[in-house]
Order: sequence, then C-alpha cells, then structure tokens
Amino acid sequence: MARKNKSQPAEEPGIPAQVNQPQGPSPSLEPILDESLDSLSALQLVDLLTQFYPHGSPRRTELGYLRRRVEELEVLNDQARQAVEKLDAAVTKLTAPANRVGTLLGLPKPEIALIINGGTEFYCSIDPRLSQSKLLVGTRILLNEAYVVIGDLGFETGGPVAKIQDLLPDGRLRVGQEGGMANTLVIRSANLGKEKLKPGLEIRLDSSQRVALEVVAGAQSRDHLLEAVPELPWEKVGGQDEARQAVRDAVELPLLHNDLFKAYNHTSPKGILLYGPPGCGKTLLGKATAYNLTRQLREKTGVDHREYFMHVKGPEILNMWVGESERQVRELFARAREKAKEGFLPFIFIDECESILGVRRAGRTSGILNTLVPMFCAEMDGIESLQQMVIILASNRADMIDPAILRPGRIDRKIKVSRPTKKGSEEIYRIYINPNLPLDPVLLKECGDDRQKAIDTIIEKIVDRQFSQREDNRFLEVTLRSGRHEYLHRGEMVSGAIIAGIVERAKETAIKRAISSPEPTGLSVKDFIDALDVEYKQNDIFPPNDITEDWLKLVDYDPENVVKLSPVKPRRVDASAII
Ligand code: ADP
Repeated sequence: MARKNKSQPAEEPGIPAQVNQPQGPSPSLEPILDESLDSLSALQLVDLLTQFYPHGSPRRTELGYLRRRVEELEVLNDQARQAVEKLDAAVTKLTAPANRVGTLLGLPKPEIALIINGGTEFYCSIDPRLSQSKLLVGTRILLNEAYVVIGDLGFETGGPVAKIQDLLPDGRLRVGQEGGMANTLVIRSANLGKEKLKPGLEIRLDSSQRVALEVVAGAQSRDHLLEAVPELPWEKVGGQDEARQAVRDAVELPLLHNDLFKAYNHTSPKGILLYGPPGCGKTLLGKATAYNLTRQLREKTGVDHREYFMHVKGPEILNMWVGESERQVRELFARAREKAKEGFLPFIFIDECESILGVRRAGRTSGILNTLVPMFCAEMDGIESLQQMVIILASNRADMIDPAILRPGRIDRKIKVSRPTKKGSEEIYRIYINPNLPLDPVLLKECGDDRQKAIDTIIEKIVDRQFSQREDNRFLEVTLRSGRHEYLHRGEMVSGAIIAGIVERAKETAIKRAISSPEPTGLSVKDFIDALDVEYKQNDIFPPNDITEDWLKLVDYDPENVVKLSPVKPRRVDASAII
C-alpha cells in the first residue's frame, strides 16, 4: 500500500504521494496487470501510475492534468447515468400494461379473494403486503397481470339502481327494475351487511350487478314531482267555459259513472290533451280536474279518495342523459300505479309534452324520441281505465305531438284552451279582485259607497282599456306574405296569467301607497291601468326580442302566411285620460 512521505512537499490535489521506490528498472504497471487492473476505475489507474514518478517529474504534472479531466468526465458520466435511469423508469411506466379492476365478491380462504371482472369470476391470490382484513366485499379491486390482488380502490360511486323485491333469510336480496332488468339475486356489500333493509327500497348495484352497494339516499325523492293541489272549485277557472266542460265530460263522467259507461260499452279516454297558448290555464285546469274529481269521488263513494298530482315538465325529462329519460317515464307510471294501490287517485300532468312526445322527426336526433314515444304508448296501453290514473298532457304546440300518442284508446281528447275573450277576462279579473280588498275612497264615494259597483267600475275600465282597438293599444305587428300589415292589440294577447299579474302589480302599488300615506287609501283604477302597461312590458310569457319564431308560438297565425312578427314599441298613455 502507498505510504505518504512526510518530508515531501505538498502534492497536487488528488495526486498521491510518491511511493518509496526501490532503485532499479523504470516503473511499470505490468506486475499488477494480470491481477486487478480491470477492477480499477480510470481515476484509480491514474493515481496508480502517478506513484511511479518522483516528485517534480513532468510526468506527474501531466498525470495531474489527466486526473482532473478524468474526474470531470466521471462527474458527467454520473449525471448521464442518472438521466438514463430516470428515462428508463418513465418508459417502464408508460409501457406497463393497465391493471384490471374487479369487484370483490368474497374472501373464501386466507390470502384468496373471489373477484368478478368483466362477467367472469376469478379465484385470486392476495399480495401478502395487503392487509386482508381491510378488503371489503363490494369494493373495487386492482389486479395485476397474473390476477393477483394488488390494491383496493374502495367502493365505486356509480352503477345501476334497482328496487328490493324481497329479502332472503341468508341476507341476499332479490332486486329488479320496473320494465328493465329481470329479477336477480345479489349479495350485500360490507357496507350493507347489517343495514335494515325492506322491499321497495332503492339500492345501487355494482357494475357487475352482483353486489348491492348502498341504499340510494332519498329514494322517495321522486316525490319532487308531487305538487300540492290547492282548493280549486271549477269557478276559480275563469273564462274557459268550453274547455272546462270538455274536461269534465272527458274525465269526470267516465270516472263518476263508470257503471253506465260499461253498460253502454263506451270506451273512455286514458287522459286528455290540453293545448293552447301559455298562461291560459292548462295547468290550472289540470289541477282543478284533480281537485274536483277527488272531491266528487269522495262524496259519491264515501271513501276518502285523495289526489296524487305529479307535475312533469317535458324539457326537464328530455335534458336527462341517455337512458335516464326513459327511466324517469317508466318510474312515473310505476309511481302512479303504486299510489293507486295505496288508494290515491294519481294524476300525471306533463307540461310542454311535445318536447318528449313530439313527432319522431322533430327535436333530438339522438334516437331518444324514438324510444320515448313507443314506451309511453306501451305504458298507456297498460292502463285499464281512468280509475287507475289520469294522464293530462299540456302543450302549446299540439301539431308537434306524435299522432301515436293521440290515437283512440290513448289520449284521444284534445281540448283547446284559448285566450280568454273580453267577457272571459272580466270573469278572471273578478276571481282575483276579492270584494274585501281595500278600495280607493274617492272611487268608493263616486260609486255611492257600493263596493260591488266600485269593483265593477275597475273591471269595466281595465278590460275596456285592455281590449281597446286604439292605436296606442297595439302590441304586435304582423307582416303577412301578401304584404299586408295587421296589428294584434293587447286584448288579443291576453291570458289568465297576465290578468293575475296585473292584479298583483296593482295591489303592490296600493300597498306602497298605504305605507307612505297617512290618509286611508285603496286600489284605484289608475293602479290597474299602470299595472297593465308594466305587465305587458315585463311579463316573461312574451319573448324578450323580435324573433318571429318565438312570437309565432303565441299567436294563431299559420306560420306559412307570416313573414315577420314584431312587438310594437309601447307608447305611454296618461291613465287619467282613460279614467
Ligand atoms: P298554462 O299551463 O296554460 O301555461 P297556467 O295554468 O299555468 O297556464 O296559468 C298560470 C297562472 O295564470 C295560473 O296559476 C293562474 O294564476 C292564472 N290563470 C291562467 N288562466 C286562468 C284562468 N282561466 N282563470 C284563472 N286564473 C288563470
């Protein structure tokens, strides 16, 4: 081994001190070549060679230089090797095959798991590094290429929902879906092991549909469709005499006189279609039907019949993801059947029904309509009579509804709900202007303190104003293909919703006045005239712009004959001139 000579001057850094050489032939590596030269690094070799030269020898200086270069190269080499190692690891990761994911069905033996993956079961070993007690039945399990369990991904969060039909003594569940999956037996996940379950509850299954994972929270959430029916005697639907009568004939008669219909072998419809412009009382008529029918049934049979009114908005169902729209419709009917069994009289009210039951070429092209219409027809064909449930469809584009829906034996009664006439409008105002409301003292005095006369005056003035054919009452300009211009006045665009809105606005103004005025005050004609102007400007029944397509939905014109429809800019009229 080399030993440092104390009497030597300081060496160049890194260069070993000269070895005490015996005098003799010139130094050579030869004696050690055979032995371990191959195992030395370049740096060690340089150091070894350096020892053979005396201090001050120019060779030593050259070797010192060589040593520094070799040292630099080794550092570079080291960095390059690390970079290659990193790349290597990345390539290994990128080219590694994906792990399979299965569902854990059970742990039949220590270190063995029963897994289902892609419909096939596997009896797999478990990586000893995994804690077996932490593997839960129903969780997603990670498998390597040899189908060894190498990880646990927890419970999945999605999956089909099914209803529990029956509970087996061994804990398994018989589940099924209305009109969908056939009944199957499933096991409980570790989460549901001790849960108290009962038939009728909805549960989520794993994607292989072998394990019940959880009770779907708020399975009763379908009640969100349930809408309260207020007290609504027929008199509260104003100005719709014909529609009212048609609804009563179509729904009330067959239900209340079922025996007679049977005796005459007369088929009754399964439901009705109410069509007409928005805000004219289609929903109101639907609810009034439910209210009056159940009341009369109660009176007739002495049984405590209650309505169960489900209000569905067509576009909301349509906007659901593929498959979900169908599920919702199926469930709607299932719910109605369930409620009928519980003694309710169920009503299914579908607003804007053309969006889901439209002619099959219209609307979405994704094929959804193709499945919804036949499905709806099949559900309807399954209903025996109105006794089971009443279906009410509402639309302002009746022409767009698939004719299959409107065939005899299905919804074959089409009832038009038109805009109220002047007389009809008076009736509706009368419904909303309650005789007990505070009235303007001046008006009352003019009417000889006769409240009814004062109310009549208000209604007469406001309706006259609304239906006036004067130029300042023009609301919509219609340009016809023939080049002719026609004007629709506000009265021709009236609806029950607008009238209700005008009354509410007038009340608001009177309330504000009452708050700030020390004198007694009440509803005046001016309040109504002002409210009329604002209501026509702000009611969201009317499209916010002049897109002809949107306005066409609100008028009775044949689209073929109309070139343009544009709202007339309102001109402010001094209410006092009218009063
Ligand atoms: P549609 O279903 O035809 O769009 P709605 O029945 O929802 O219209 O009417 C909206 C509101 O307008 C109702 O809640 C009611 O306050 C009022 N309304 C509409 N038509 C009438 C009517 N004929 N009689 C009384 N109120 C009406």
